[in-house]
Amino acid sequence: MRTTLIAFVALAVACAARGTGAASTDRIAFINARVLDDSTFVERALVVEGGRFVDADPATASRTVDLSGAFLVPPFCEAHNHNLGSADGNQEAIDQYLREGIFYVGVLSNLPALTDPIRHTYNTPRSVDAIFLNGGLTATGGHPIRLRESLLDRGLYPGFTRQSLADHSYFVVDSLADLDRKWPQIVGLRPDGIKIFLLWSEDFQRRQRDTTYFGQKGLDPTLVPPIVERAHRQGLRVFAHVESAHDFHVAVEAGVDVIAHLPGNDSPARIAAADARLAAARGVRVITTAVLIERPARKRDTTNYRAMRAAQIENLRLLRQAGVVLAAGSDETRQTSSVEIDHLRELGVFSHAELLNVWGAACANTLFPTRKLGRLQPGYEASFLALGADPLNDFAATRDIRLRVKDGLEMRVVATR
Ligand SMILES: [Zn+2]
Repeated sequence: MRTTLIAFVALAVACAARGTGAASTDRIAFINARVLDDSTFVERALVVEGGRFVDADPATASRTVDLSGAFLVPPFCEAHNHNLGSADGNQEAIDQYLREGIFYVGVLSNLPALTDPIRHTYNTPRSVDAIFLNGGLTATGGHPIRLRESLLDRGLYPGFTRQSLADHSYFVVDSLADLDRKWPQIVGLRPDGIKIFLLWSEDFQRRQRDTTYFGQKGLDPTLVPPIVERAHRQGLRVFAHVESAHDFHVAVEAGVDVIAHLPGNDSPARIAAADARLAAARGVRVITTAVLIERPARKRDTTNYRAMRAAQIENLRLLRQAGVVLAAGSDETRQTSSVEIDHLRELGVFSHAELLNVWGAACANTLFPTRKLGRLQPGYEASFLALGADPLNDFAATRDIRLRVKDGLEMRVVATR
């Protein structure tokens, strides 16, 4: 009896850890629905069992939910943020994501010591599924050291000092010897991937020697290939912060898996066509974070703002044409990817169907490449949103969420802020 109970608990935990939902083995049919298949809605029912969509006759279900003609889409996703991973405001952030239909979140750096006590609040049928990259790799004086220290001064990292932020919230890697020495510590904190920082790497030599560039520099670009090789050997993907078109080039050449930004958030940057093609050929995914140019400090210089915006449009068209998979991410800690999608819409580059993909399937698969996400088809995880109108006609319908189903379970969320 005791062994059976332990085995059952272990199974339940394993299922929850996979995000597939442990609770219900009932067969539920969602009928009277219009389901997004690629880029059109098709009238059909969805049958769910054990947290997955199954190929079964709706008449065989033990329960039926009538969706009154709602439009069903894969859940939305935020590929780049930092608003989860510490107790401060955690539940509010989770609730906001769920309200907005965002079920998958990439936290592209965090302090594991602050994340550990609340890890159980993620990756359940009632919460968002999140990955955490922990502290990233940078150079002496590089980003994000200045930012981390200023947040420390503002009291955001209780229990930390400048010294203890180092080799935890970031790792300084100036040489292969540093990489050798620090690697066990980096992987010992069990990141879901490795974050690296590239900032104006074309100017690395000059910036490295110049302390006035504190926080505005990153890794020695020659260290990126060995970092990528080491990460891949351990089954860890590499996510690269980039600022310039050259950073983008360095990242793609070195074989990173995900580029965490479009370049050009401070001044216009244009990705080389050859780099876009190579990124597509290698399956490198790009997180957009294009809304970063909308920050008031960046909009004030209207000439520069307009030039950055024009460059974003060119870069997005280039990447799309090359076949690079794009994922919506905002990097705005007080916001979510909803503002990124608003910004991308305003740029006028994408159709509504493309936006649904960048915000939905493409984003979810960027964060969780081994899971079956983003399609409402048998075998896939049974997660979807039911919208009150057709988002291909009126994109505002993405705000009119009538029902959220995650891991086969209907979700109750806090309705208003
Ligand atoms: Zn970020």
